[in-house]
Amino acid sequence: MLVDADGTGPQDRLRQQLRTREEEGLYRRRLVLDGPQQARVRVAGHECLAFCSNDYLGLANHPGLIRAACEGARRHGVGAGASHLISGHFSVHHALEEALARFTGFPRALLFSTGYMANAGVIAGLMGRDGVVFGDRLNHASLNDAVLGARAQLVRYPHLDLAVLERRLAACRVKNRMVATDAVFSMDGDIAPAADLLALCERYDAWLLLDDAHGFGVLGSQGRGTVSHFGLHSPRILYMATLGKAAGVFGAFVAAQAEVIETLIQHARSYVYTTATPPLLSHVLLASLDLIETDAWRRERLAQLVACLKQEVRPIRWRLLPSDTPIQPLLIGDSARALALSRTLREHGLLVPAIRPPTVPQGSARLRISLSAAHEVEDVRRLGAVLRGLDGA
Ligand SMILES: *Cc1c(COP(=O)(O)O)cnc(C)c1O
Repeated sequence: MLVDADGTGPQDRLRQQLRTREEEGLYRRRLVLDGPQQARVRVAGHECLAFCSNDYLGLANHPGLIRAACEGARRHGVGAGASHLISGHFSVHHALEEALARFTGFPRALLFSTGYMANAGVIAGLMGRDGVVFGDRLNHASLNDAVLGARAQLVRYPHLDLAVLERRLAACRVKNRMVATDAVFSMDGDIAPAADLLALCERYDAWLLLDDAHGFGVLGSQGRGTVSHFGLHSPRILYMATLGKAAGVFGAFVAAQAEVIETLIQHARSYVYTTATPPLLSHVLLASLDLIETDAWRRERLAQLVACLKQEVRPIRWRLLPSDTPIQPLLIGDSARALALSRTLREHGLLVPAIRPPTVPQGSARLRISLSAAHEVEDVRRLGAVLRGLDGA
């Protein structure tokens, strides 16, 4: 048997690490949902009002999309059976790529299985060991991991601090550079100043990778995303968005110039060495894209809910971070306190996750309230009333 000199095996060390994590209030546990993702979810036999999904437009359980999934399965089967470069690239994948390119205003688009893999693919595919990636300190973990995986150099800059970014770009002697940023920051809900970032990328000859996981479907005309929100056009922009959040399904894509997309098809390992997503999902996503484009009421409802939440929590001691997106974090500070509040909300039948370090910086634990077009104004009022009660208690 494998044991250390002190008589402990590797599982004992894990148990000790887990215990420490628990004591620090950082232990993560999964909710188990019974039934679809929607405003009211069933967890452990109880119905809860959920403010914790990324299903911003309320499409994850849309009847028309469920019908499209069944139809997609009948037409294409349930599995792609191969990677895109062997024989898993179906006409419906191709049609979705064309629709996504058209919708986002880029020449081409390429589907990836997940946003995590899309970021890995685009950074490894374009940067490699000789590249330098400048990343906002609050970027999503998948962007940081992608740089590590590509063995490129990661240079971080303080959140939204373009003056520091510019100094670091100016000091950089490496030719192959990229600025990578969340377009909407996933734990804060604020929007990156994409036009100013693009101007810096033009001045210092860098790619601009915008990760619009939380903006696609939500921001811009007809939900076309952050690039449309700012009216940007540039061959330097690499636009990544996910299809498992506002689009309500699963997957991700990168939209960019034709040369970029062809390069990714050749070199992005997270594209090449993996099975294509089930083509039925592309069939569903074509229908989801139609709903994103035409159901303006979903974005109007979100704006109304955001305004209502701000009003509801105005009197309490905890502050919402400045955000006009459906991500509305209530800053608590202490991890244990945030966790206790989340638990108490749960006892009131409200699901609001406590987000703690290392996902967010030390001392900035928060309740991350996410709103969805599936919510009613009444739902947000109920959350507000309970939060006011907890503040008074
Ligand atoms: C969710 C998310 C991703 C990962 O997308 P998945 O499709 O869930 O893998 C990437 N970037 C950001 C900012 C995200 O919030």
